[in-house]
Amino acid sequence: MSDPLSKAAVAEVQQAVDQERLLATASTLVGIPSPTRSAADVADRLAALLADEGFAVERPVAGYEASPAVVARLDSGSPGRVLQFNGHLDTVHLPFVPPRVEDGVMYGSGVSDMKGGIAAAVEAMRVLRDGQLLLAGGVMLTAHDLHEAPWGDGAQVNALIADGYVGDGVLLPEYHCHNCPVVGRGQAMFQVRVTREGKPCHEVLGGIDQPSVIAGGARLIERLAEIDCELQGLTHQLAGRESLFVGQVHSGEIFNQSPVQLMLEGTRRWLPGTTVETVREQFESTLSEVAAETGTNIEADFRVSRNAYEIDPDEPLVRTFQAAVSGVSGEELPLGSKPFVDDGNAFVAMGGVPAITHGPAALGAHTVNEECPVSELVRVAAVYALTAVAFCQSELT
Ligand SMILES: [Zn+2]
Repeated sequence: MSDPLSKAAVAEVQQAVDQERLLATASTLVGIPSPTRSAADVADRLAALLADEGFAVERPVAGYEASPAVVARLDSGSPGRVLQFNGHLDTVHLPFVPPRVEDGVMYGSGVSDMKGGIAAAVEAMRVLRDGQLLLAGGVMLTAHDLHEAPWGDGAQVNALIADGYVGDGVLLPEYHCHNCPVVGRGQAMFQVRVTREGKPCHEVLGGIDQPSVIAGGARLIERLAEIDCELQGLTHQLAGRESLFVGQVHSGEIFNQSPVQLMLEGTRRWLPGTTVETVREQFESTLSEVAAETGTNIEADFRVSRNAYEIDPDEPLVRTFQAAVSGVSGEELPLGSKPFVDDGNAFVAMGGVPAITHGPAALGAHTVNEECPVSELVRVAAVYALTAVAFCQSELT
């Protein structure tokens, strides 16, 4: 078999990426507001666009009737691997910024996170179709709502995975491209409430005799800091260390009143090999100990966002993706870790397939100033198409 990613093959794909067509798709998607839980309009538009292009389109509800997911396929007709492109259509809840292109940069809500990347994936499918470049296997695009926290909880992509919308490898066009992430920490967010019985009262009218929720909270913060210190010993060469981080704490109303509640929030991050159960038990037993010690009640919401994951750098997905990157940019990416959690963690942990997060070098995610170089959208489209060319034609083993 000839090298699927020869210089000629790379050049053919790069020439076939149609910048204007890609930008038109990106503008269409960015131009339809889709804050998390309200992505139905943009999902409908994307589905119509893909159907008009001749792709086989499905709309699985995937647990969220208000905005069914979008699934589109391109099949070579021959057996082989299926490469999946997965993206979220929802954006964070910020004022809407319409799309515009200026001096080679596209601006607008979601262009960085991650409608620009989805448009690049759509363009990759068109390039594969137009050039009949898929000799085996197929490509599947999945797009969904409910990604961005705290409005979404990842439930729709979880349902897609549970319903079997899983390829043999997944690429996710989040704004991450400086390394090839093969490992990522798990993450949970917690909110703790330290409370006491009764009502708020004046310090001199019994307040001084109440259990202090502030002292209870302070003791808890001290204990969590000790645990974080211990976690410094749990490290991974690429992914860094486990951590327990407190990001905010609030209590009290005025200087001489005994409050009834203290609230604190933070995150726990862990490495592959540590289980969610271990993490949760350690957290909950610490809360019980501090509650007993300080005479307060302590309860918590401990919400697991995504589990930790690690993939083998020798996976065909990693090898073919790196070959595609190298074909387009001249060199492979260094192997590294993904500093945040995303839906890729779920594809590995729940879907049992390798997943790589790789998108445009875009800026301003989760702000009103999202911007993405047009050249990056074009680059990602070429990398996605070339990864498919090499990944899908390999034999299934
Ligand atoms: Zn995103």
